[in-house]
Amino acid sequence: MHLIIVGGGIGGLTMALAAHHYGITCDVYESVPEIKPVGVGINILPHASRFLCETLGLEEKLSKLAVLTKEAIFFNRFGQKIYAEPSGRFAGYDWPQFSIHRGDLQMTLLASFLEKIGAEHLHLGLECTRVDEVTGKAFFKKAKSTDVTEIEVQGDAVIACDGVHSVIRKQLHPTEGKPLYSGVNMWRGVTRGKPFLSEGSMVRAGWLTQGKMVIYPIRNNIDSEGNQLINWVAELETPNHLERDWNKQGRVEDFIGAFEDWRFDWLDVPAMIRAADSILEFPMIDQDPLPFWTRGRVTLLGDAAHPMYPRGSNGAGQSILDAQSLAKFLSSESDIEKALQLYEDVRLEATGNVVKMNRTNPPDAILREVWERTNDQPFKNIEDVISHEELEAITQRYKNVAGYDKKTVAA
Ligand SMILES: Cc1cc2nc3c(=O)[nH]c(=O)nc-3n(C[C@H](O)[C@H](O)[C@H](O)COP(=O)(O)OP(=O)(O)OC[C@H]3O[C@@H](n4cnc5c(N)ncnc54)[C@H](O)[C@@H]3O)c2cc1C
Repeated sequence: MHLIIVGGGIGGLTMALAAHHYGITCDVYESVPEIKPVGVGINILPHASRFLCETLGLEEKLSKLAVLTKEAIFFNRFGQKIYAEPSGRFAGYDWPQFSIHRGDLQMTLLASFLEKIGAEHLHLGLECTRVDEVTGKAFFKKAKSTDVTEIEVQGDAVIACDGVHSVIRKQLHPTEGKPLYSGVNMWRGVTRGKPFLSEGSMVRAGWLTQGKMVIYPIRNNIDSEGNQLINWVAELETPNHLERDWNKQGRVEDFIGAFEDWRFDWLDVPAMIRAADSILEFPMIDQDPLPFWTRGRVTLLGDAAHPMYPRGSNGAGQSILDAQSLAKFLSSESDIEKALQLYEDVRLEATGNVVKMNRTNPPDAILREVWERTNDQPFKNIEDVISHEELEAITQRYKNVAGYDKKTVAA
């Protein structure tokens, strides 16, 4: 069996390594001419890190590059602590939670691909234009070129890992409506700074109307002073937004106003924002879950299948779980079309639930509850606002839906 994998991002490279693990060969076709460590931070929760560590053998490498997330901690915009719970191994999972630079994760997957599968199976600078669902052929042209000569490749199946602008999704669903803007814009950046709180804390603070921040370190000891690379995302309700472009530069003056008085004893937030290496702007956009992903010998995976709001650290994780699931079905079912369908049967509904949960009740619903109940005022005692059990139930509900409650991960 030979797979054509379109897209060499997190999902595509994981798919290639997962296939290789089960003895399935593949070629990866990627539109960029060179894979560079782009992006900012992402989190890999234990459900996805288990596959990377246990099956793909990447734990040692990832642990050296990433920060092991110790806790998820929530504050209001006045810096008052609402809730904290341990994460990954610190919460008793058998697998870590990684806070990692997307580029570090992608380059680790790439290095493993080159070592195990070989550079001759990676084809850069080729942009997929269409696929043939019946034969399992994919068609490419030279990326960013006026030369439209088609290059045709034949596999037993085509796996579309071509991200949020997937051309293969558009081919399978030509009448799908426009992506849906949440009303929230995001500005992302990384800043070099001193470790704060537990040195592995994932902070969520404030609320979207007045401004919310997600802040966590993604690299340790980046210099002789023991500084960390700190990833942050500012989220703010904003009527206007731009198209989704992962490389779009953002402007500090467009959002810093919301965070000017966020000077806490553990972190000076406006100083951190101003000291950023660079700032990227990205709208919080998703798409409704699709009725199907698979047609004949073609299926969708990762963001191409289920773009979601990045509110629960599940974008990369769900693409890793897709790859794990698809490779398993392909290895155990000789009828390829049936294997693709079995994968869809399991993963479409599961990821659709995460898409919907990210709209309504991701972990930061904790912040919304407190914001509403306090009328955006400081509180005297958090227990008077919301009980510990209720806060715990919010994160537990999300874990159950996203599939990283302890029982599911252990199984
Ligand atoms: C440049 C970039 C920066 C990102 N930065 C962040 C970030 O900072 N934080 C975050 O949470 N998420 C980021 N993401 C998204 C994140 O990687 C995904 O949400 C998640 O990991 C799921 O992975 P994926 O493989 O489905 O999509 P992606 O990782 O987006 O990979 C899709 C790949 O397909 C390639 N591709 C697209 N169209 C074609 C085509 N027609 N033919 C061939 N190849 C094609 C793209 O170049 C890309 O390499 C970024 C994605 C990209 C592409």
